[in-house]
Amino acid sequence: MMISIDGPVATGKSVVGRLLAKRLGYRFLDTGIMYRAVTWLAMEDNICIGDWAGLTALANETVIWIDYETGQIYLNGLLVPLSEERDSIDKNVSLVSEVPGVRKVLTKYQQIIGSNGSIVMVGRDIGTVVLPHASVKFFLTASDKERARRRYIELKADGFDVEEEKVFRAMEKRDKLDSERAQSPLRPAEDAYIVNTDGLDIEEVVNRMTRRIRE
Ligand code: C5P
Repeated sequence: MMISIDGPVATGKSVVGRLLAKRLGYRFLDTGIMYRAVTWLAMEDNICIGDWAGLTALANETVIWIDYETGQIYLNGLLVPLSEERDSIDKNVSLVSEVPGVRKVLTKYQQIIGSNGSIVMVGRDIGTVVLPHASVKFFLTASDKERARRRYIELKADGFDVEEEKVFRAMEKRDKLDSERAQSPLRPAEDAYIVNTDGLDIEEVVNRMTRRIRE
């Protein structure tokens, strides 16, 4: 069984996916951390975000290792400080993830990880491109207002000094870039089950998904 979960920013994909995987006894992969990690490395190496050839070369040369338990990611043996660098990564990640060469490398990794089965994989293009033959596909949605509120609370809890309006704009910008890029844009697969998470808590979303999987 392979289960895909896609959706825009702050629809709860990761939290829900992790809990669903735990219930099913499956592995969990949040593919967003791979794009975030490559973005971080590009910034560390001072590669210009518009330099698609440089970014592609970087992705090709990098050895990726993921700790499924903790959700931590290592590039060339180095632990990527995803939480500490979250703000700067958020600003650039959609620009890095639109590079076809970067997507090619990461998609391949994700398909290899998925090929062993028993996995819940979360991202933007899992049901459409990475695992088009996934057993059950989900696409999570929520209203813009609800998503911005969730992201704002999350960032505040992580100690970032942010304004709600700015969080909303940044979210809108990232979703636009992710949905409008030429390669693997964010969109539901034709056979995806759409779950509107407005007004639902994590438990309720996972219950709905579990019912669907059993069906
Ligand atoms: O899921 P998360 O918000 O951590 O993803 C960060 C970014 O990584 C997304 O905004 C998107 O640009 C990119 N991404 C992607 N394809 C995926 C997962 C993430 O393009 N499968």
